[in-house]
Amino acid sequence: MIEALLALGGNVGNSRAILDRAVGLLTESGDIVLKARSADYLTPPWGFKYQAPFINLALVVETSLSPRDLLVRCQSVELQLGRDRAHEKRWGPRTADIDIIAYGDLKIDELGLTLPHPYVFERAFVLRPLVEIAPDWVIKGKTVRQALSELDTAGIKRLPPQP
Ligand code: ADP
Ligand code: MG
Repeated sequence: MIEALLALGGNVGNSRAILDRAVGLLTESGDIVLKARSADYLTPPWGFKYQAPFINLALVVETSLSPRDLLVRCQSVELQLGRDRAHEKRWGPRTADIDIIAYGDLKIDELGLTLPHPYVFERAFVLRPLVEIAPDWVIKGKTVRQALSELDTAGIKRLPPQP
């Protein structure tokens, strides 16, 4: 089993419920085991700015899947939750986006899969939830805590647990 970091986000529909369901679907078959889950965060849109705010959260998981199979699983959960890649805008609205931020300390840069995730150091909406559960994880020579301290977290709100 390898430890991996996943980042989940969405801004279409009831995002907290949808992402909760995503966590359930990811872990239901037992080859992805949940080790830690951050709180949910409300975050300003990134990339394409004129869209609803996002809900984001991060997971530490342990998995027996290869990086490719983990990506395939993440994308199949996105599909089950109604994501329609064919009709969406780059960095635009989506029901559920599930990214692999890191897979152990593996570095790969292949068509369709780059690890660690190529934009991690630019995305406070990924690092802010992640710092809660994996502050000392080292990504490309920097801890999550260090990487977050270099970003602006204005507008990001930690949400209380849902009843
Ligand atoms: P984004 O996550 O950047 O908002 P998408 O979810 O549409 O956008 O992802 C675009 C492509 O990024 C996917 O087709 C996937 O193959 C690729 N990709 C490359 N590296 C990763 C990674 N570490 N995690 C998830 N997707 C990745
Ligand atoms: Mg993605």
